[in-house]
Amino acid sequence: MNAKIIDGKQLAMNLRGEIAAGVAALKNDKGVTPGLAVILVGENPASVSYVTAKEKACAEAGMYSREIRMPATIAESELLDKIAALNADPAIHGILVQLPLPKGFDEKKVIDAIAPEKDVDGFTPINVGKMLIGEECFLPCTPHGIIKLIEFSGMDLKGKHAVVIGRSNIVGKPVAVLLARKETNATVTLCHTGTPDVGAFTRQADVVVVAAGRPNTLTGDMLKEGAVVIDVGVNRVPDDTKPKGYRLCGDADFESCAKVASAITPVPGGVGPMTITMLLWNTLESAKRTCK
Ligand code: NAP
Repeated sequence: MNAKIIDGKQLAMNLRGEIAAGVAALKNDKGVTPGLAVILVGENPASVSYVTAKEKACAEAGMYSREIRMPATIAESELLDKIAALNADPAIHGILVQLPLPKGFDEKKVIDAIAPEKDVDGFTPINVGKMLIGEECFLPCTPHGIIKLIEFSGMDLKGKHAVVIGRSNIVGKPVAVLLARKETNATVTLCHTGTPDVGAFTRQADVVVVAAGRPNTLTGDMLKEGAVVIDVGVNRVPDDTKPKGYRLCGDADFESCAKVASAITPVPGGVGPMTITMLLWNTLESAKRTCK
């Protein structure tokens, strides 16, 4: 293996230290404690563990967190009323609705109900639009974390060619937008299932961000020597040797990519830890904005 590992856990820890210091300063100087409300509807096990991890991270950063659990049987109007109450609550600076919602809920309607100034996930159309035109907003957490990871790898993105695989609203498209911003200044190619030969593009790339949700979407023969690889994918593959009967892998074939790349994120331990970190970042930012 030639590639350096881009240690997302380490970067997340560094940033969480900075965030905790910012929280302490805000409490001390302004008497304001950043507060995050996390709404969980139903009992999807993966969602329960994400919500638990977010609360733990909040507590470690010295933030206030409020968990609101609602049964999957509640009416959508009850959920919308709860969001409206949180929108008006001065102790809450960030509101997150854990996705996916159980069947029968209109996710778009629910996300749209979050006040943009408390939308710390950066998913509401107002925040997405502001990001696109370069106005102050909350950047979506995973894409923002990806940019931080590329910077952490030592790569200066200015003038570089970045290829993004995947065009979802939560990862691929926003990553492409952030990479192409003037302050980042990369040249961006966005690939998807309509791209006939993804390798023809990735072989020209200085950095490849793969967010396809499919193992082995990116292999070493698709890379230019020395490229930086950011693997966003989280896939469960059956593995009888593991206690849970599966192991996690990314969208890149780690072994072959690591032979060609200069730096690569592992799965787990790459992009994942950054997502919650950028959520804390946005919540602190939101609390600071109320003091301006
Ligand atoms: P998604 O909504 O399923 O989108 C996948 C995208 O990849 C689609 O645009 C699809 O193209 C494209 N695609 C799929 N296979 C492809 C292929 N072989 N070649 C080219 N393009 C291909 O997934 P997502 O929500 O963006 O998530 C992607 C992965 O990242 C998932 O594994 C998810 O679990 C993971 N993820 C991780 C984090 C984290 O914090 N670590 C956060 C979010 C997501 P079409 O549009 O043409 O269908």
